[in-house]
Amino acid sequence: MPEAVNIPLVRASGIAKTYGSGERAVRVFENLDLEVMSGERIAIVGPSGSGKSSLLHILGALDRPTSGRIEIDGDDVAALSDAERARFRNRTVGFVYQFHRLLPEFTALENAMMPLLVAGQKARVARPRALELLERVGLEKRVDHRPGELSGGEAQRVALARALVQRPRVLLADEPTGNLDHRTGDSIHAMLHSVHESEALTSIIVTHNERLAALCDRVLLLDDGRLVAS
Ligand code: ADP
Ligand code: MG
Repeated sequence: MPEAVNIPLVRASGIAKTYGSGERAVRVFENLDLEVMSGERIAIVGPSGSGKSSLLHILGALDRPTSGRIEIDGDDVAALSDAERARFRNRTVGFVYQFHRLLPEFTALENAMMPLLVAGQKARVARPRALELLERVGLEKRVDHRPGELSGGEAQRVALARALVQRPRVLLADEPTGNLDHRTGDSIHAMLHSVHESEALTSIIVTHNERLAALCDRVLLLDDGRLVAS
């Protein structure tokens, strides 16, 4: 059977984002289009405040666009009910933030298991999958540590394991190395690229790091409300 490689996995058409209304309205972008093919690795760069996080949150169904349409894996994300959106977010996309956002009172293993548990999966299913991913990111010796006992790089690896535990199609990362020193950042980059292959992901990574961006299939610049090839 031929692979359906020519259908974009992510298709955003005419999306706009405005925060607030009236005199306090902040118009971030409008009429923005983006198509990402299955398996592609995209870097998004742009100055601070240009709307990179806003765009990523919309693509990951963490936020709604003010107007426009988002389709991911055939789902019209805007048309989903809140419950369906939550389900979609949990299953189809994995999100990595600049700051790991792990739950401080839980261990690395529990944090990595969390999306599966929230989705109603049994611990005996969630545990081996989370362990497998923690091993993949080189943290098998830290599974019982809490975030406060981990370095920034280690915490970010747990966050990556957590983002992947549900086998998402799409990985969205918002300046995942922005908070780390160079060397640690490089090891996180290497990991992002390695899981992109091993987990058959489509990756969209917001980054200031030119080396990371250069390793991607395409680099897009978001500036002045426009998204252009860079
Ligand atoms: P970037 O990630 O590129 O730095 P953001 O997407 O975070 O940019 O922000 C884009 C613009 O939208 C900024 O001017 C920011 O102040 C504004 N903004 C972001 N989130 C909100 C919000 N919740 N309410 C109002 N304005 C916001
Ligand atoms: Mg941002």
